[in-house]
Amino acid sequence: MNDSRYIYLDNAATTPMDPRVIEEVYKHFKETYGNSSSLHSIGQKAGQILLKSREIIASSINANRDDIFFTSSGTEADNIAIFGVASKNKERGNHIITTSIEHHAVENPYKELEKKGFELTFLPVDNYGLIDLKDLENAITDKTILISIMFANNEIGSIEPIKEIGAIAKKHNIIFHTDAVQAFGKVPIDVNEMNIDLLSASAHKLYGPKGVGMLYIRNKGVKEGWGKFIVPIMYGGGHERDMRPSTVNVPGIAGFAKAVELAREEMEVESQRQIKLRDRIIKWVLENIEDCYLNGHPTQRLPNNINLGFKYIEGESIVLDLDMEGIATSTGSACSSKSLEPSHVLLAIGLKREEAHGSLRVSIGRFTTEEDIDYFLEKLPPIIERLRKISPLKKRVK
Ligand SMILES: *Cc1c(COP(=O)(O)O)cnc(C)c1O
Repeated sequence: MNDSRYIYLDNAATTPMDPRVIEEVYKHFKETYGNSSSLHSIGQKAGQILLKSREIIASSINANRDDIFFTSSGTEADNIAIFGVASKNKERGNHIITTSIEHHAVENPYKELEKKGFELTFLPVDNYGLIDLKDLENAITDKTILISIMFANNEIGSIEPIKEIGAIAKKHNIIFHTDAVQAFGKVPIDVNEMNIDLLSASAHKLYGPKGVGMLYIRNKGVKEGWGKFIVPIMYGGGHERDMRPSTVNVPGIAGFAKAVELAREEMEVESQRQIKLRDRIIKWVLENIEDCYLNGHPTQRLPNNINLGFKYIEGESIVLDLDMEGIATSTGSACSSKSLEPSHVLLAIGLKREEAHGSLRVSIGRFTTEEDIDYFLEKLPPIIERLRKISPLKKRVK
């Protein structure tokens, strides 16, 4: 880094904790150390905090309090939803519909289910990363037990038509799961209006602590025509009504609830502010740097996501050079950025392999300022220019 300045533009990978959340977590680490299942008063106090947190998080998505199940992460919530429904309903049907652009926390469990004899439909997406509702309708069979489609994509930010998908799931009486880890706290979500049966979220993507997540399970997992539609995947003590046994992380969950409260209070103003910053970056880069393009939908995308493709160079090199200037960005998914395989999401929206290697994800956040963007837009063009000068790909084209 050149100076003490460090600009964090990788909020889709994880966010720094909001100081107000840190304060809340710290307070509960100190004071609320009881086991929420214990009978004594310090345990009961933890139980009260847990109840209040559950209420806050439930009301933010118009859910019932008892339908929120805390987990250790978004990944765990996805795994409980997927294996829990598959295992409960395998006699009923073995067909599951998902998309070709899911996060690895969803994609890899489904690949595992395929090995176990489940039939998976990975719906294609268009150039913007959106599924076609007709494809979804056509994929449904009488063996379909689950539709699992992410709310918003973590790499390109595109927001799927969740309400319409929910309506289709309802019409065919099929369980609908959405991985809302990227969308939760950034866009309005109503599980009833959108007919969502299962929803995964994670605190660390919305300025809360890492290692805290939740799964919303409609009506605690009982649905008309289905009876009980989900079973646990772990067995132990009775915490979280047996869905996720293990002593509950009350301080972390209190922080999660605080983060949700803040996100909810500030969403309207904050998303407008971020959309302005987002669109400023997109417009400036497309107008001032040649041979580049935007990945994902221009408007139907998360307020904080920018994904740019630069021809003839590799995203990894841009990320490393920006880091030398004190700017944190990413090539796409944090989970795949260390592998040499191009992103499955970018391939799914139709990019060629070499194009998929040339992408840069810039994800802004609550603490991103205009000055940060000025600095980023000042540092980016010379990096692109230098990398292109030494690029063998560029020479081949010329
Ligand atoms: C980050 C992320 C996850 C995983 O959440 P963790 O809490 O890190 O396990 C799952 N899905 C999406 C879309 C994500 O962005």
